[in-house]
Amino acid sequence: MNVLLLGPQGSGKGTQAKRIQAEYAAPHIATGEILRAAIVAESELGRRVKPIVESGQLVPDDLMIELIRERLAEDDAQSGFILDGFPRTLPQAQALDEMLGDIGRELSIVFGFQLDDSVGIERMTKRATLEHRKDDTPEAIAQRLELYHRETEPLIDYYRAQGNLVGIHADHPVDHVFAEIQEALEQTVARSA
Ligand code: AMP
Repeated sequence: MNVLLLGPQGSGKGTQAKRIQAEYAAPHIATGEILRAAIVAESELGRRVKPIVESGQLVPDDLMIELIRERLAEDDAQSGFILDGFPRTLPQAQALDEMLGDIGRELSIVFGFQLDDSVGIERMTKRATLEHRKDDTPEAIAQRLELYHRETEPLIDYYRAQGNLVGIHADHPVDHVFAEIQEALEQTVARSA
């Protein structure tokens, strides 16, 4: 099953992705986590993206597309994946379609998480004290939300037009959201059986 989670910062995509991963044995591929790990490791990629990630900007499309191309080619992604944080722009979405098309695969389902900015800001501010993310400062949070609305939110319509979008009310409790996701995934499994 090839799953994509799309939604603003603080909408709980990462939490849900981990639960999907536990239940459906597909790897959770979170580009933000990959970049943060590269920054900690001080790899060449990490050094390049550090100032961009920490200020809440977007890493250039070509770099992200290459990163995902390599990640999707790894063994554990061959029978399915859960993408979280990619694509974030139209060129990234188009590149993903092309990439999947080339290997005869497609997205099974796209979850579009909906959440008011005020709730997301509150959640990210709480997380800032727990996780000490450099991009959870008020300035970086505002920047990231602005970029979400401008660059990423239009992808909801892009996937709606492809016919595989399922909307999720992300302000509901975690278990409730997961139950909704599970129901949609079961229907997808049943359809493809
Ligand atoms: P996240 O953990 O998904 O909120 O991502 C943290 C940061 O990593 C973002 O604010 C961006 O700086 C960078 N990032 C992650 N994924 C992407 C992407 N697909 N395109 C561009 N930048 C990204």
